[in-house]
Amino acid sequence: MSYCVNCGVELAASERRCPLCGVEVINPREPFDENGERPFPNDIEKVRHRLVRVTAARVFSLLLAIPLVSILLVDLISDGALTWSLIPTAAIVYAFLAVVLPCLFKRPIVWLFMLLGVAETVLFLFVLNVILGGDWLWLFALPITLLTGAAVIGGYLMLRSRRASLTLKIVVLLLMIAVSLIILQMLIEIHLHGAIRFDWSVYAAIPCGMLSLVALIIGRLVRKSESFRKKMFF
Ligand SMILES: [Zn+2]
Repeated sequence: MSYCVNCGVELAASERRCPLCGVEVINPREPFDENGERPFPNDIEKVRHRLVRVTAARVFSLLLAIPLVSILLVDLISDGALTWSLIPTAAIVYAFLAVVLPCLFKRPIVWLFMLLGVAETVLFLFVLNVILGGDWLWLFALPITLLTGAAVIGGYLMLRSRRASLTLKIVVLLLMIAVSLIILQMLIEIHLHGAIRFDWSVYAAIPCGMLSLVALIIGRLVRKSESFRKKMFF
């Protein structure tokens, strides 16, 4: 057992320097031992990350539990049964699933959590539909949720892809936005007016199409000049 000559802190054999003041450890009777017991865990960063994640999950759970309990109590006392409180309860459960669940994973797989988010949203909408009634879910909210989810997850996976070139990524992304907007307007029009009509979505889709064409042309030019440069060795 050694002690720091400067500050007196107790030192393990696996320490070259005092962890508190940084003074070099020299003890001829107990030389430095690489495999000696470490005073701190080796994976201190991992431990710290875990602590932050778990603390965040706990704090957020508590922050959600307070309004949840208050809402349920107020509803029970005022109405004698759970009525309107079911809607905020569904919202709180939704927030819990969306925020706390990812906190509990060491390295969340982003696309999987996006997928989970879509599933949670669908579940939340379904619960709302059961409470509120009406036919807005199946023809309107559900298709829009699935469309948005598919666009976001597809866009994310494509942007991350290593095989696709930048040009291809830009073109696909722009076309995806254009198609999504057109489908979105279709769904809205059917829901509100009972008929399909396109105006604003087409106005937005046209520049997307033109931009993707520009991206394709630029990409082709860049590739041509690259191959020319390689051929001419400069
Ligand atoms: Zn010291």
